[in-house]
Amino acid sequence: MKLNSSEKQILELISLGQGLSRKKIAETLHLTQGSITNMTRSLLEEGLIIEGNRISSGLGRKEVMLYSNPNKFTFLGVDIGGHVIRFALATNSLEIIHEGECLMADLATEPDPAEVLMQMMHTFLAQWNISPAQIDAIGIGVTGIIDATQQILLSIPNSPGWEHLELVSIISQRFNCPVYLEEGGRTMAIAEQMLGKANAISDFITVQVGFGIAAGIMINGKLLKGVNNTAGLLGHITADPNGTRCLCGNYGCLENIITFPMLRNDYRKITGKSTIVEAYQQNDKQAIDVCVAAGQALGIALSNVVNLFNPQTIYIGGAMFDQMPILLEETKRTIILRGNRFSTTSLNLDRPTFGLKQGIMGALALAKISHIMAQ
Ligand SMILES: [Zn+2]
Repeated sequence: MKLNSSEKQILELISLGQGLSRKKIAETLHLTQGSITNMTRSLLEEGLIIEGNRISSGLGRKEVMLYSNPNKFTFLGVDIGGHVIRFALATNSLEIIHEGECLMADLATEPDPAEVLMQMMHTFLAQWNISPAQIDAIGIGVTGIIDATQQILLSIPNSPGWEHLELVSIISQRFNCPVYLEEGGRTMAIAEQMLGKANAISDFITVQVGFGIAAGIMINGKLLKGVNNTAGLLGHITADPNGTRCLCGNYGCLENIITFPMLRNDYRKITGKSTIVEAYQQNDKQAIDVCVAAGQALGIALSNVVNLFNPQTIYIGGAMFDQMPILLEETKRTIILRGNRFSTTSLNLDRPTFGLKQGIMGALALAKISHIMAQ
């Protein structure tokens, strides 16, 4: 079945919501209730959506809620981060059925990381007795640079072996299903919009800091990509003109100041020890000072982002903000201090909905939304 553009819009809208009535869909898309009734009937017949409970909406009669059919598709998500690669299998409702992970370091010396990644995907599915034929689409999020036209992974700045990999064509051939590839910060923004707190927010930014920095910029409900598909390279903006050389080739990048390995390095330079988290949790002054300096650097960078894009919310994620909370406090304080006061009056600084699973939820959300649009 080939869906028309209005049917795709309806399907996308239902995928974004926690159940929607026909009346609400008609209002949102500015279409008549009659046409919505016809189109939702064909989507029901195709098994793409299901009817749920009748829910009262004020004084009118009860409305039947429509949902994605959870059994229609099965998605495989792959989240390639700076430190960990995560895999997850999910229903069409994006409920995770199985998940697994491996370390990026395990692939560092492999001459063909794409081949090893595919073997890992096969192994992941095989341990749950899932055949590749059961997968309807694969979503891959990667914290790197992607050629949008040719769907090639051009580079992961922190992982030198991952260059010019034709991930989409080789994985789609091997798994015999569509494969969708997107930058990891952007997939996190897609997950936040589809299933998270940004469900009703059109201007927001997701930032994830761990072994690298990833960012997704959603403007007027659309992901910002840029002419070379590199928009959102927050980790590689210059934060210290006298800073050290970054793996991207530039000097003084934000990633060289605030990522977990950099905080550990900074603390080691001062104390000779690499146990910054443990030291912080024992109120070690030098550990706290390192966190304050890093939080200020991130806060300055994000205050510039606030002035440029005027988002409603920035979702700041990463385990180290939980382990060393002053990092987050200093980041937030600096954003408010440095951002333009007219831009920060209603600015909301929040944590991402899915925590450490934001990346893998993003890869799954990418698979789902792209697969709907391809119907
Ligand atoms: Zn850099």
